[in-house]
Amino acid sequence: MDCLALKPIATVNSPYKEKFAIPRQPGLVAEAVGEIVFNDALDAENMIKGIEQYSHLWVIFAFHGTMAQGWKPLVKAPRLGGNKKIGVLATRSTFRPNPIGMSVVQLKEVSNDKGRVTLHIGAHDLLDKTPIIDIKPYIPYADSISQADGGIAQEAPELVDVVFSEQATKQLSAFKNRHRNLAAFIEQVLAQDPRPAYKKAKTDDKVYGMQLFDLNIMWSMKSLTTIQVMQVEEVK
Ligand code: SAH
Repeated sequence: MDCLALKPIATVNSPYKEKFAIPRQPGLVAEAVGEIVFNDALDAENMIKGIEQYSHLWVIFAFHGTMAQGWKPLVKAPRLGGNKKIGVLATRSTFRPNPIGMSVVQLKEVSNDKGRVTLHIGAHDLLDKTPIIDIKPYIPYADSISQADGGIAQEAPELVDVVFSEQATKQLSAFKNRHRNLAAFIEQVLAQDPRPAYKKAKTDDKVYGMQLFDLNIMWSMKSLTTIQVMQVEEVK
């Protein structure tokens, strides 16, 4: 078989509108929410029958945001300080021979609004508009191996502290009703330190911007291990 054609079955609605600052794995930002909306042409109502009995799902998706950039057999792993290289198949890099990602996500709710079938998911690492290729139930007895060796990724990355400026705190309160637990969400995203690995442990004066939902969030390093949120404004 030379070629395998895949047809996406659903599309993701995500607060992560750009690649920058998306966590490296789904469980790292607990407050993230998202939706998986099935394509109208499919009989999604029947395809998901029984899915609500599972608390977690495997989501198989296309790295549509990076696939045009191709791939190389060796990649720089952030875990190795960002400079040393390792085989692409020994990493969870997005630049793969086939641009396929997989994430375990919590299934919070299933809804059907006049045939628009949607899975409401918890913590995830999916870019907005990610095409979903397949969904399977997460089965703990088979999928969870407590004594497995995590190689270069033994532990979740270390967190940094996050503080909000007076201005950011004021601005946040205006969006309180629009996005649930917004401050906690921003805090968890930034605690991952979204900067490239080589920036860590060095002073950094840069002002960074990231988009979550419809908000532009400006932040900078207050110290080596503290991020300060400076501004939270609506994207114009
Ligand atoms: N859990 C997945 C993804 C790990 S890589 C897996 O192991 O296969 C996680 C990174 O994928 C995120 O930091 C984000 O930047 C990137 N990402 C998520 N959705 C993407 C998409 N649709 N296109 C390109 N990159 C994406």
